Parts: sequence; structure tokens; C-alpha cells
Amino acid sequence: KGSDGKYTVSLIEGDGIGPEISQSVKDIFHAANAPVKWEPIDVSPVFIDGKQSIPPDAIDSITRNFVALKGPLATPVGKGHVSLNLTLRRTFNLFANVRPCKSIQGYKTPYDNVDTVLIRENTEGEYSGIEHVVVDGVVQSIKLITRDACERVLRFAFQYAQDVGKPKVRAVHKATIMKMSDGLFLRIAQEIAKEYPNVEFDSELLDNACLRVVSDPTPYNDKVLVMPNLYGDILSDMCAGLIGGLGLTPSGNIGDKCSIFEAVHGSAPDIAGKGLANPTALLLSSIMMLQHMGLYEHAEKIQSAIFKTLADGTTITGDLGGKAKTHEYADAVIKNL
Ligand code: NAD
Repeated sequence: KGSDGKYTVSLIEGDGIGPEISQSVKDIFHAANAPVKWEPIDVSPVFIDGKQSIPPDAIDSITRNFVALKGPLATPVGKGHVSLNLTLRRTFNLFANVRPCKSIQGYKTPYDNVDTVLIRENTEGEYSGIEHVVVDGVVQSIKLITRDACERVLRFAFQYAQDVGKPKVRAVHKATIMKMSDGLFLRIAQEIAKEYPNVEFDSELLDNACLRVVSDPTPYNDKVLVMPNLYGDILSDMCAGLIGGLGLTPSGNIGDKCSIFEAVHGSAPDIAGKGLANPTALLLSSIMMLQHMGLYEHAEKIQSAIFKTLADGTTITGDLGGKAKTHEYADAVIKNL
């Protein structure tokens, strides 16, 4: 927090629609008098000793500010270019990915009362990047699970449930098949559950969870779901589908020191630069960020204005069936503040 009473937050505008949706966040925060000063940073990769990294200035900024808001970053497919998203997660040890999905009044989906929270282990599992060719035509990919990473993400999930008033934590796993790796995750979940006697704990197989959550999501509303990396990646997009898709879902990547909040969607190259993007997901990510910073009043004020604008439905973007441009939607949110 600076002498002007404002908190400096690193801002990665990102690629494609990133700058457009970031502009909406900046305009709305300004109009809401949110005590946030943006520090724009560029994370275009640099090569240090032949290894891809993010620029030292960007690392310094996030380290100094503890909190960053991030637009989508485009990842070229199969060019030997490591995903910058992964690089950021590794650089700042962002061990938990928090993905809430809450039905939005005014945007009709087959389900009305979705309120799920999914926490994904964000640093290892199937995303450890340990892959090699054994012999021609045979490739091995290693799923790495460590006690340390399980403990910290599980403890975070129980603490989160307690903090937001969800009475239950459920571990989602495939320990029937991956007896050692998921078995370890599940065993540690049972251990950590003992530290939180006020939070109920149970577990469910991943396939069963997928079937049941799309059949009827409401029994999941009182639970925080926690799971290894790949399962969380897939199941969280499925939950996003329950409330209307990627234009609406926020996320937070939480580390021991720094945290980065970002929309779940990508850079949407098909609509970039046309003023068609829906900034809601990045906006809701910025609300999670304000809550993380303890700025609850500002979070509530901006969130209510967003929900009011969406429920009213006259000034919404094309992905939600409306005709508004990105900045027209942002202006409507500002009017509703
Ligand atoms: P995408 O999420 O960018 O787009 C999928 C579809 O959803 C497109 O039709 C797009 O127009 C639409 N869409 C996405 N966000 C929207 C928004 N805010 N408003 C309206 N419509 C929206 O997924 P993709 O096309 O598979 O990926 C494009 C690029 O983004 C790739 O390079 C990918 O690697 C990257 N990506 C980045 C992140 C991230 O930074 N966290 C996440 C996913 C994908």
C-alpha cells in the first residue's frame, strides 16, 4: 500500500482480447474509486542462459506487489515454446488454482442454482513436464505427486472452505486405478481433514463426479472440490459450461507469497481487436483479487454492478446473446455502480 492509500497491482494485459478486456477492468475500477494502482508489465519470454524465462522486471514487479491480474496469454502449439502460463505458475509457486462457478441471474442455462468451487493442484501431477521417448514409437509421461504439494493444496482447500463458509470438502481422485499417486493424495486428504474438525470430508471418483455434476450440480453447492492437476483442468471447464461458458468464469492462482488472478478463457484470436469480447470473466477475477486483498466493500460494489448489468440483459456482449461492444458493457456496469 502506497502513501496515497492505494495498493499497487501488477497488470499483465495479455494477448488477443487481453488489452480490450483489461481496459474495461481499469475503467470500472477507476469509476468505482477502487484503491488500486496498476503497474503494467510485459511477460514476453526472454532467454536467460538458453532457458526460457519471463523478464526479470516482470518477476520483480509481481514479487514486490504480491498480487497480479492477468489477461490471457497465447501459447503456440507444439513449437518447443513452454506455456507462459505454466512458467508463471512455476516461477511464483502458484500451487492452488481456485475456480468458483456461480449461476448468473439473467443468463439462462439448463441449471439455475450452480455454486461450485473447485481447487486444482497447480504445480505437478500430469503437468510436471517429464516426458521422454523410451524407444521409437513409445513415449513415457510421468505423473509426479509429492506429499508436500498435496499437503499444501489440501490444507488450502480446507482453510478456504472454512473461510467462505462451505461446510464440506470433497477430494476427487482415481485412486482405484492410480493406487500409489492418487492414493497418496487421498491419504493426505484424510490426514488433513483431521486438522479441520468443523469441515466435513469425503471423496469421490472422478468419473462419478463428472456424471453427477452434469446430471444435477446442486448437491455440489455445499462443497469445495479439490483434486490433482489434470482432473481439475477438465472438471473446472465442465463446471464453467454449467453456468454459461468461459466468458463468465474467473480464477485465482494462489501461492505462498504471490497470487495471480486471471480469466479462465484464452486470447480469443477470432474476435480480438473487434470490441466484441466479454470482459466479465476478467472482471470477476479482479473481484476475487479484491477479496483476496481484503477489499470486500469495493469487491461487493463492483460485483453487484456486474450482476445487475447482466440480469438487466439490455447491454450484454455477443457471446451472451447481446449486441453490446466491450466498452458499452463496461459503461453500463459503471452506470450501475
Ligand atoms: P479461447 O478461450 O481463446 O476461445 C475459445 C472460444 O471462446 C472462441 O470462440 C472465443 O472467441 C470465445 N471466447 C473466449 N473468451 C471470450 C470472451 N471473453 N468473450 C467472448 N468470447 C470469448 O480458446 P482457444 O481459442 O483454444 O485459445 C486461444 C489462445 O489462448 C491459445 O493460444 C491458447 O493457448 C491460449 N489460452 C490461454 C489461456 C490463459 O492465458 N490462461 C487459457 C486458455 C487458452
